[in-house]
Parts: sequence; structure tokens; C-alpha cells
Amino acid sequence: MHFPVTAGLLKRTVGHVKAVDGVSFTIKRGQILGVVGESGSGKSTLGNCVLGLLDYTDGEIYYEGQELKSIPKKAMKRLRNRLQAISQDPFSSMDPRMDIAAIVTEGLSIHDMVKGKKEKEEIAARMLEMVGINPAFMHRFPHEFSGGQRQRISIARTLALQPNFIVCDEIVSALDVSIQAQIVNLMEKLQQELNLTYIFIGHDLSVVRHISDGIAVMYLGKIVELSPAKELYQNPLHPYTKSLISAAPIPDPAVDKKRERILLQGEIPSPMHPPEGCRFCTRCPYAAAVCHEAEPEFTEVSPGHFTACHFVDKTGFHPGKGA
Ligand code: SF4
Repeated sequence: MHFPVTAGLLKRTVGHVKAVDGVSFTIKRGQILGVVGESGSGKSTLGNCVLGLLDYTDGEIYYEGQELKSIPKKAMKRLRNRLQAISQDPFSSMDPRMDIAAIVTEGLSIHDMVKGKKEKEEIAARMLEMVGINPAFMHRFPHEFSGGQRQRISIARTLALQPNFIVCDEIVSALDVSIQAQIVNLMEKLQQELNLTYIFIGHDLSVVRHISDGIAVMYLGKIVELSPAKELYQNPLHPYTKSLISAAPIPDPAVDKKRERILLQGEIPSPMHPPEGCRFCTRCPYAAAVCHEAEPEFTEVSPGHFTACHFVDKTGFHPGKGA
């Protein structure tokens, strides 16, 4: 997904922001793929592409065997309910004058999928109960709820549309740490009960780790490591993944003291001017000459575990040995 950058009165294209560039992955039904990386790494753009919300520049996205762009508009409209997103800030998308029963069933009303007040209230009650909100509160307004409760209401609104694939985009980032765990647990429970499939986006590996079957680590528009979740924690290979894991909090001070720390210098570069060679070379503590010249290939080092680094092979990460 490359966005054109324009300048001047004539809006001439002067460059492109390569927001997501050459990524490839598969998510099986009923699985959760965690996507992590700093802001500006392309996580949300990736999510929006997968939902068919962006006119992606190149490549193919298949949903149940059908390429999204090949689906006729009418069929895509019907499919839209199956492919849903939950965002970080539910409050901004809630009309403050609507009670939460109306908010939860809003999507159904728009698509004429529900008739009459009674049916709406029945559905709202069921959905609210499912997400842990007392249905007796259904005629209250969004401002009467806490941030965590509003996120639950937003989840209920999404579930009312009966999706089977949901992009959860930083849905706990704005919440207190204690509430974050509750929402993650709720999403996990719903996934199991309804056999949902998620892309679970976060910038904090410690949040994403518990819920995900697999994890994709993104840096500057690329997936630099993709692996089953457990394997990623036990055997992170890419220096960027290692740095994210080393920054994640560990409750045991003894383990915390012993672990390897990789502190990154500086900020993520602009995706309009990504570095030559490996995109991580300007911040990687192991960067060698080859890293500034050639882009590392994204290769499978063990079953389901892919990474892109010149110094990783099937036997592990060997910095400084030459590529
Ligand atoms: Fe670091 Fe080089 Fe590996 Fe990139 S290819 S992650 S710069 S060691």
C-alpha cells in the first residue's frame, strides 16, 4: 500500500509513502494473528487493507478464497458485516445523544436488519450481556460509562453485525493496565465462543503475546519476523524483535536482571525515505556494511518462523559473521 505524496498547486506526485510494502501472511479461521511494531510501522494500514477499506496499490488479499478486489460491489456490501474493525477510541464514533441500545444496534438499523423497538432491545440486551455490561443500563448514554465499559459497548456493537473476522486495532492502548487485561480476556473468550478470527494490533508485545497464535513484527512497512507466538518469545531472531522483547516488562526482578537488553537509538525513519538495504539498519546495533547495501530476504528458518536479517540462518542469529 503506497500512498502518493503530492506538492504544489498542481498537486504533482513527488514521491510515495510505502506504508505497507511487500508483506505476505495467512490467517486460518479461528486463529489470532498479533501484529506489533512502533507507531508508523504500517500496522493500521495493513489492517485497513485486509478489511478492503483501502484501494491497495498492488498484491492480492484473499478472504475465504476470493480476492477482495474481484468481489462485486453488491456482494462486498453484504460481506462488509463479516469483516469488521474495533478501534482504539470507541467514544469518538459514538453519537452522545444515542443511548447504548441504539448504539449497539445502529449497524443493524442502517442495513435494515432489525425491525421494531422490541427486537432492537432484545438484541442489545444479548450483546451487552455477552460483553459483561448489565442490560439494565441499555438506556444510558455513552458518557455515563468508563473507558473500559465503552470499549465493551463498542465490541457489542461490532458483534451485533455477526462478523467472523475482526481487526482489533490497538483496542486496549488507551486503557489503564488493569482494564487492558480484562478486555484482552473478553476478546479471547468471545473468540473461543464464536470461533472468530482476529488480527490483533498492538505496540506492546506483552499485551499481544497472551492472545495470539502467531505474531507478525512490523518495522517501517515490512514484516521483519513472523512466527508462532510461543516460538517468537522463546527464540526471537530479528534484532528488532529482540529489542521489543527486551523492552517488555517482566514481573520477576531476578529474570529481569539477567535478560539481554537491546536499547534502540533514535526514532523510526520516515516511510517516505526508508533507508537503503535493511530498513532497520539505521537503528540496529548489529548493522554491518552489507545491511546498508542489500535488503535481506524474508526466509523461513524453521516451520512457520520467518525473518528478514542477513545474519539469521537455520541455526540462529550470528551477528558479525558476514552474510
Ligand atoms: Fe540488523 Fe543487518 Fe539484520 Fe538488518 S540485516 S536486522 S541491520 S543485522
